[in-house]
Amino acid sequence: MKRHETVPPRAIVAAEGPWLIDDQGHRILDAVSSWWVNLFGHNFAPIREAITDQIGRVDHIMLAGLTHPPVVELSERLGALTGLGHAFYASDGASATEIALKMSAHSWRNRGRPGKSRFIGLQGGYHGETVGALSVTDIPLFREAYAPLLRLSATLPSPDPRQAAPGVSAEAHLQQAIAALEAHLAEHHASIAALILEPLVQGAAGMAMYDPAYLVAVRALCDRYEVHWIADEIAVGFGRTGTLFAHQQAVQPDGHPVRPDFICLSKGLTGGVLPLSVVLTTDAVYQAFWDDRVAHGFLHSHSYTGNPLACRAALAVLDTFDARDADGLDVLARNRVAAARFGELVAPLTAHPRVKAARHIGMIWAWDIDTDDPLFAARYHQAALDAGLLLRPIGHTLYTMPPYVLSEADQRHLAQGMLAVLDQVLAQAPQMSAPSQAGGDTGLRMA
Ligand SMILES: *Cc1c(COP(=O)(O)O)cnc(C)c1O
Repeated sequence: MKRHETVPPRAIVAAEGPWLIDDQGHRILDAVSSWWVNLFGHNFAPIREAITDQIGRVDHIMLAGLTHPPVVELSERLGALTGLGHAFYASDGASATEIALKMSAHSWRNRGRPGKSRFIGLQGGYHGETVGALSVTDIPLFREAYAPLLRLSATLPSPDPRQAAPGVSAEAHLQQAIAALEAHLAEHHASIAALILEPLVQGAAGMAMYDPAYLVAVRALCDRYEVHWIADEIAVGFGRTGTLFAHQQAVQPDGHPVRPDFICLSKGLTGGVLPLSVVLTTDAVYQAFWDDRVAHGFLHSHSYTGNPLACRAALAVLDTFDARDADGLDVLARNRVAAARFGELVAPLTAHPRVKAARHIGMIWAWDIDTDDPLFAARYHQAALDAGLLLRPIGHTLYTMPPYVLSEADQRHLAQGMLAVLDQVLAQAPQMSAPSQAGGDTGLRMA
């Protein structure tokens, strides 16, 4: 709030495709998909038309004792896509985390194992900021002030290869992370309901990308120790990592992709247009609640559960993934072509002498910048806006997670702009680093 007295927020008065237009007529490329939610640009006709059609039919009704066609169709299609045929809806990602945690622990209790009520997460994991979700989120800045309110979960080493100790290879680090998980489960499984993690990319940790082999090991270990695996695909779902869902890249020795016990979806679920989240789960979890006693049912009430407008937006998103263009390409195939082209355009940035770790998966690119400027993220964000780019580095990690609709000219604007802004910000940085300011913009998700 204090910062905005000198740096007022930009007023956006129009949004079209990947472009935002402010009240001064400046055009800003939305290179972070409006906090990772927007898939197909703003004012995307199929979503707009679906919502407009639905509002003339059923705007919103309670989803208790009543149902409606969009929520039925969406549940069936998500079930067919994931193999998880039971769906519970809310409006935001943090609520999806809460629902998955509650459902996991309650299902163990209904099966006569009430001791299984703890959760584990990964170092640097992010699952939302309500009190329950924060207890499995390992971002110290977000957690510190609220620590007394939380029942903190155990945090296990991340398979992020950048965390490897000096002299330890990426492969050895991966094996160490798996061994640490195994040791923890062996000792504590009787009290653990579920492991929650972000498959393939830990977003808030600074786009930490890791090997899908970790997820194969997670599946096997969770089976062996009877612990649920919750895949938080809130940020990585819907094509972000190159497959419709990130966990589908983890293929078991039998040739089948891993299947989590719970999948949390939100963000791109509606193409970034309306708030909606869903938790998908297995027949086994569903059966644990199949009972005449009300107290054995899953207890979570939410006024806007299964909102029809949001469900129609989500159906329009699934239709868009199903469709093929005149060349026979679907969204994922077009993204592969676009990603290859963008990879060439950002080659000079990747080769920049101050870039330490460059990484890419699907439609996410990240670069760690060698700087000790504690205000790097804030300075970069501001300079990027002036250059017509919406970018918010996380700490010293510059990243882009653009909508899937950038033209070649848009890509060029983004790639050249990122490099120019980097040189400009590094040239401005003070020689002596200023002390880290509490409340300074870290680039994390602060308003
Ligand atoms: C954004 C995010 C959440 C929280 O979603 P909200 O809708 O902001 O509550 C949870 N998990 C992950 C991985 C996210 O990226």
